[in-house]
Amino acid sequence: MLTIVRGVSNILTKIAFSTPRTAASYHTTCKLPCAHTEQSTADTNEADSEELSAAQQKLIKNDRSKAIPVETSIRYLNSEAYKTTYGTRFVWEEYRRNHKGLFAPKKTRKTCIRQGAISTGNPCPICRDEYLILDHRNLELIKQFISPHTGEVLSYSKTGLCQKKHLELLVAFERAKDYGLIAFDVPFREYDYSEYYSKQ
Ligand SMILES: [Zn+2]
Repeated sequence: MLTIVRGVSNILTKIAFSTPRTAASYHTTCKLPCAHTEQSTADTNEADSEELSAAQQKLIKNDRSKAIPVETSIRYLNSEAYKTTYGTRFVWEEYRRNHKGLFAPKKTRKTCIRQGAISTGNPCPICRDEYLILDHRNLELIKQFISPHTGEVLSYSKTGLCQKKHLELLVAFERAKDYGLIAFDVPFREYDYSEYYSKQ
């Protein structure tokens, strides 16, 4: 049974990636001018010349073992490649969760990346773009996940982040607050001070 399923999925990936150039154009972050993309474009050039198989291309596309520095991510969010990919919309706005049945499960999946590679066909908005790094210095990214009405982090049921990335987002948000990078309001409380004095 498994072999049949694998055979069908192999055929589907071959249909989807029959031309080598389409796989490269799906990659959202090809245009970023930095050391990492130079490597990746070199890889794709090799792919064009050597005609890598669909399975190998998929492996390259889903690989997340490279650690990308935050500075690169910050430059990416201001780059032309980011604008052509997302425009003025938030990174999570166009994302739609896949689930069976009419209603989505209460919680999103635990993680999209297992053993250094994307392990799902529908990775969450942060996992699907390898240049989006959650860090307290990456304010442009964190601000996309903050509600303008409450100033709190939006729920994963709205943004679709996996549990792992949502936790990373909460940590980055709290850190940014601690470092004074994000301004926030402390609610004003009125006290009835007469209750604190003795009744005499
Ligand atoms: Zn994820």
